[in-house]
Amino acid sequence: MTQTETRSNEAAVEPEACIICGGTTFRPAGISSGYRIFRCMECGFHFVHPTPPLSEIAAIYEKYSSNKLYAAKAERKVLRAMKQIRRYRQLAPGNRFIDFGCNIGTAVEAAIRLGLDAHGVDIDEESVGIARKEYPRGKFHAGALESLPADWADFDFAFMIEVIEHLPDPHAYFEAMRKRLKPGALLYLSTPDAGHWFVPRDFTAWREVFPPQHLHYFTKKAMRRFLTDHGFEVIRFIWSPKPRLKVLARKK
Ligand SMILES: [Zn+2]
Repeated sequence: MTQTETRSNEAAVEPEACIICGGTTFRPAGISSGYRIFRCMECGFHFVHPTPPLSEIAAIYEKYSSNKLYAAKAERKVLRAMKQIRRYRQLAPGNRFIDFGCNIGTAVEAAIRLGLDAHGVDIDEESVGIARKEYPRGKFHAGALESLPADWADFDFAFMIEVIEHLPDPHAYFEAMRKRLKPGALLYLSTPDAGHWFVPRDFTAWREVFPPQHLHYFTKKAMRRFLTDHGFEVIRFIWSPKPRLKVLARKK
């Protein structure tokens, strides 16, 4: 399949409303690996439409395991996460830390080294298996948020690094996540920044565009709206030289 063919032979289906702002005007932003991408003209959110079926997404992840690559860089990632945790932890009301989408557990290990009570959850069992082996002091859970033990609650500080762009339903994920946080809890989230000057005019030429792994591409405006709608107050966007949104927010 070439870049310009779509996965289905059906005529293009226009989105009805932006899932972030409710806007109804869109512009096609191209086709990548057969998936159509649209841009909301109101908030700048870019998204794959229609959302591919879960089976199609899962099949891709089975083929594409980046664990080996991650493992080689693991210690560097631990050190980078320690830097971030150290920088922001004073904004969190307490010591209970959770990494949503923890992968092989590097941020959990970072939090442990800094004396936090650290937990990590990831849908990918293989990654969590590696995390348990590499970082036995961490508490890990493999599965969907709905399957978290009841006492995985009242967290003070949550990480969500490069996760939201993968989620077929970010709203459902955020509602499930929110329930696990204490009021006043700090959230540190990062995701590619679709509104950055660095993003090429031909959106699909951007290296972050690879559906069906990446389904959603936020701008600052879209992220602010999304967080506010889920009961978070944006503390600030952290400047990055890269096209990456980094945001600190507080659960109200
Ligand atoms: Zn929108």
